[in-house]
Amino acid sequence: MNQSKKSIDWSNLGFSYVETDLRFSARWRDGTWSDGELIHSANMQVHEGSPVLHYAQACFEGLKAQSAPNGDVLLFRPDLNCQRMGRTTERLLMPTVPESLFMQGIESVVRANAAWIPPHGSGASLYIRPFLVGVGENLGLRPAPEYEFRVFVSPVGPYYKGGGLSLINLAVIDLDRAAPKGLGAFKAGANYAGGLLATQMAQALGAQEALYLDPSQHRYLEEAGSANIVLKMKDGTIVTPESESILPGVTRISLMTLASDLLGLDTSERPVDFLEEVDDIDEFAACGTAAVISPVGKIRAGDRWYHFHGDGEMIGPTTQKLYDLLTQIQRGEREDTFGWTRAV
Ligand SMILES: *Cc1c(COP(=O)(O)O)cnc(C)c1O
Repeated sequence: MNQSKKSIDWSNLGFSYVETDLRFSARWRDGTWSDGELIHSANMQVHEGSPVLHYAQACFEGLKAQSAPNGDVLLFRPDLNCQRMGRTTERLLMPTVPESLFMQGIESVVRANAAWIPPHGSGASLYIRPFLVGVGENLGLRPAPEYEFRVFVSPVGPYYKGGGLSLINLAVIDLDRAAPKGLGAFKAGANYAGGLLATQMAQALGAQEALYLDPSQHRYLEEAGSANIVLKMKDGTIVTPESESILPGVTRISLMTLASDLLGLDTSERPVDFLEEVDDIDEFAACGTAAVISPVGKIRAGDRWYHFHGDGEMIGPTTQKLYDLLTQIQRGEREDTFGWTRAV
């Protein structure tokens, strides 16, 4: 892939949509998938009765491609995104996207938009958005007659303003993200429209995002609107909240492995009672493909702020180490002993 690059100020990209040249589209109809093809138009034409438009029969994934020093373009654990989409499609009665089609979609779009892949060292990456929607003529509440699987890409910079590794704030809002046996553990579009108001309320309090507690007791930590939580406790252990209503993130599971296998820390996934344990938390971080690992300086809950990372001015050393290890593997700057990256 030595296509020349677009002239973009790569280092100042934010996390927003940039239209690239080509996207991938495949259709499911009468039990079979079409071959799939690269297309030019960023617009989709769908029937007005499409279940995606009325009943949110839609799911998506998110992953990144990054340029390595040797020129390779690396995907990070795309097999896990494919498996997760498989679990979501089952929950939403949508057809499964076969792994071969999922990978064909991703790899062909990345290759076709090589000029849009941020160069190594720019700090930016190519965000990949595979998604599946239920389309076709329908009125009653039932699964769609047809489906479209699409993949588009967009070059992106950091998710939260401030760049690379900057402190963010969260706020506990009196709204739930997901019901205990609802859709929380699935990357279903329906989860995210419901979170917009919580994000807006959190922002009005001076935070970037809402922090959700468990929906039955409002005691235990769940996650932020689009990122999981990883904690470094004062006793040196790494903890991530256990819950059946949080999205099982690829970043989170990878960070837990890095903490145990490369940093030699004790790790556990267990319920975390926020107010009971808040004083035992040293470093609080939000993590996800978009957020990478973002240290949380303070959290608004009730009528006060709780501070982390030594009063919210510095980034904790463990968060910094985890950020370095993860991003070095993703960018091909460090030997990938786990076999997590895949060159396109
Ligand atoms: C996508 C997402 C995450 C992060 O998952 P990754 O696989 O690490 O990108 C966390 N929480 C929610 C609600 C998400 O939608």
